Amino acid sequence: MSANRRTFLRLATLALPFGAANRLFAKNVVNKPVVISTWDSGQIANGAAWPVLQRGGRALDAVEQAGIAIENDINCCVGLGGNPDRDGYVTLDACIMDEKANCGSVAFLERIKHPVSVARKLMETTPHVFLAGVGAQQFAVENGFKLEPGELSEGAKKSYDNWLKKAEYKPVINIELQQNKGKAAKGHGPFAPGRLEDGSFNHDTMGTLALDANGDVSGMCTTSGMGFKMRGRVGDSPIIGAGLFVDNEVGAATSSGQGEEVIRVCGTHLVVEFMRSGLSPEEACKKAIERIVKPDPARAKTFQVGFIAINKQGEVGAYSLLKGFNYTVTEKDGKPKVYNAKSYFA
Ligand code: ASP
Repeated sequence: MSANRRTFLRLATLALPFGAANRLFAKNVVNKPVVISTWDSGQIANGAAWPVLQRGGRALDAVEQAGIAIENDINCCVGLGGNPDRDGYVTLDACIMDEKANCGSVAFLERIKHPVSVARKLMETTPHVFLAGVGAQQFAVENGFKLEPGELSEGAKKSYDNWLKKAEYKPVINIELQQNKGKAAKGHGPFAPGRLEDGSFNHDTMGTLALDANGDVSGMCTTSGMGFKMRGRVGDSPIIGAGLFVDNEVGAATSSGQGEEVIRVCGTHLVVEFMRSGLSPEEACKKAIERIVKPDPARAKTFQVGFIAINKQGEVGAYSLLKGFNYTVTEKDGKPKVYNAKSYFA
């Protein structure tokens, strides 16, 4: 190597953010395919995504299959089995994004089993990106999605009944009653319960990111939203740039936790932009968490947010605000492995 080239490389290395230089010089090999999902229930999501990736399929198809699998699991945290809002209705949010920046989102969707597939349908068959409420439901039904009965799962009913006792909240039966005759229900109840009685954290969101054999990245995010939220409340999960962001030049990120805090900083867009500037997925997630903490570090101890990310080299990473966030990765050997994310607060 010539002296000039050595000097150039040294200067270039100094100019790059920490960690980036190592990867630029050490990583010519791309680790693909690979899929990463939030939480240990990511084993279910990755289990559905992996066969698609293994046979050389599209990352988009893989992440949709991940979403469908987790929405099917009535014992899990998302989909129609999830926790209802404070009036007892399960309302679902989801989004999906592909390697060409195509994206689709649905929010405040009731009685439809697979919001992730409705989001994809919207993305692929209309000029729009985001549908909410009755309009989203109407679109789903028109496109062949079945209108489910809308009953609470056994687990959700139990936790809702418990919540009602503690919150002393009186569910509003219907809008007419609320607007014309009835008294508005008192109080908001404890919104966004965050920490559960046993000390663990409540979470209701599954996000999956995949890099396929072709080197393309896609992602999805699906949720029943924060348990016992105000009726009509929508969190970060269906918002492109908050709950999910994909840029096929760089990678992708998704989030779980208190959506309001992720929306405030455009969380997943931030993670992807940090990766663009040369940070590893874990470093980028950490930086985004630091951005959430900055305005009010004391308040930041009262809620949880976790990010996961993937880059074009197939490197994955995660970081959370508080301890207790984990994620699942499936690569090469096809076996899902669960890792604990590092956290800002010990
Ligand atoms: N991010 C979701 C929301 O804010 C909730 C969660 O992940 O627990 O709706």
